[in-house]
Amino acid sequence: MNPDVVLAIINIVMAGMFGAVIGSFTNVCIYRIPEHRTVVKGHSMCMTCGHELGALDLVPIFSWLCLGGKCRYCKTPISSRYIKIESLTALMYMLMAATHLDMFLDPVDPKATIFVFLELCALFIMINIVIVEMMIMKDTGSSMYRLSLALGIDFLVQLIARALPFLFDGFKSTYTENPVRSDLANYLGDWVTEILIGAVIAVVACGLAILFTSKPKQLPQYFKGEKLRALRTSDLFAIVVCASIGILPAAICAGVYLIARIAIGTGKKVKYLGIALAAGAAVGYLANAAIALI
Ligand SMILES: [Zn+2]
Repeated sequence: MNPDVVLAIINIVMAGMFGAVIGSFTNVCIYRIPEHRTVVKGHSMCMTCGHELGALDLVPIFSWLCLGGKCRYCKTPISSRYIKIESLTALMYMLMAATHLDMFLDPVDPKATIFVFLELCALFIMINIVIVEMMIMKDTGSSMYRLSLALGIDFLVQLIARALPFLFDGFKSTYTENPVRSDLANYLGDWVTEILIGAVIAVVACGLAILFTSKPKQLPQYFKGEKLRALRTSDLFAIVVCASIGILPAAICAGVYLIARIAIGTGKKVKYLGIALAAGAAVGYLANAAIALI
């Protein structure tokens, strides 16, 4: 097998494992922050029987699967949120790695590679902060402005990480489509446009899905910060995923997700929405790769 392909696969798998760990920590934050507990100290325990969890109970994704979604000690079912967030975060990181492969495969300028890496780290970490914020908002029913604030901070940090390399002489991006284009305004413009359009496509898709699956008089409640199940975890993930994978994959992903969202409705099968989102992102990414090859 081509060594580049092997390296690419290793990078994507490692990104997925790292994402699962970050997803696991994200779950800890979502559970503990609203209770004003520290997220860095203290053992995790079963919420029903209070039994302290061992290392084998805390392996992201695999523990939940191996234990069949039940506590090892008292057999109480564990919320599927844990595996949803862990697997979706892993998927998101794998997509990120897959869409930035030239960073690993073509390290022409080591200094430039480090900046790209730092920028991606900032993006990864901020995305998870946004997820934590979104999930807490959904659970405690706090208002929409907190979400806007979190997204605003996320955007600002990414912008700084993007602009930083241009403070250093001689930096040329190793992974923009056009290597001649090194002007900061153009560079940032492309990137900002891509993120904004991706996010807008997903927001429109989720808005349409909510319109199709809600009663009209429920709609004003979204903006009053009341606790509603109509805005789903998977909607929030759809927006973040679409903002990070590029315009064409985002459009395809959002389309697949919208169809699944309307087809599934609000019944018990909503647990499959995460799979629909993953499939949509994969189809979008593959279509993008296929077009790039032509
Ligand atoms: Zn238990």
